Amino acid sequence: MRKTIGVLALQGAFIEHEKMLQRLGCETRELRNAADLQAPIDGLILPGGESTVQGKLLRETGMFDTIRSWIVGGMPVLATCAGLILLAEELEGDETRYFATLPVRVKRNAYGRQLGSFVAEEAVRGIGRMEMHFIRAPYIEKAAPEVEILSRTGGHIVAVQYRHQIACAFHPEVTADTRLHARFLSLCEMYALSMQKAG
Ligand code: GLN
Repeated sequence: MRKTIGVLALQGAFIEHEKMLQRLGCETRELRNAADLQAPIDGLILPGGESTVQGKLLRETGMFDTIRSWIVGGMPVLATCAGLILLAEELEGDETRYFATLPVRVKRNAYGRQLGSFVAEEAVRGIGRMEMHFIRAPYIEKAAPEVEILSRTGGHIVAVQYRHQIACAFHPEVTADTRLHARFLSLCEMYALSMQKAG
């Protein structure tokens, strides 16, 4: 069955995710306001961009509570960069919290000004080596023991999976490498099957 993936489209790098998902045979739906949340979706993308702006717009558009309840309810999420910040339970030196569904502590703009943007290549657990594009990226300072660490760069955690939530500090959508998205889609497949059974 063809999957429909919701892509948070308030701000940031959402079009690149849509293109990648379409290449993988999915329908995509841009989530811009509460009306876009009416029809069901099989999974959710939280793209990179500016987490403070996204967080503010999520509240202003009235989408915040519904999206959070979906994630809490088991809907698969792939979050990149600012999306990781939205998912984090804790932000270093900052009392702000957004969805707070991923038990990690994240440091925003963690590489400082000079290393604002760079490319690395590291192994990702279950996938293999990936080219990683970091753009004013955060990293994960600390993860709860139940969080699976998928990758580290320079000693810092840059990709994790916790049940149905996959989050990375880099931008896979700016490369031609669809493997992380494919892994997310396999979670969506399982979720769709579990929803069918429940329904
Ligand atoms: N620096 C941004 C933030 O704090 C994240 C950057 C990105 O998503 N590429 O939200």
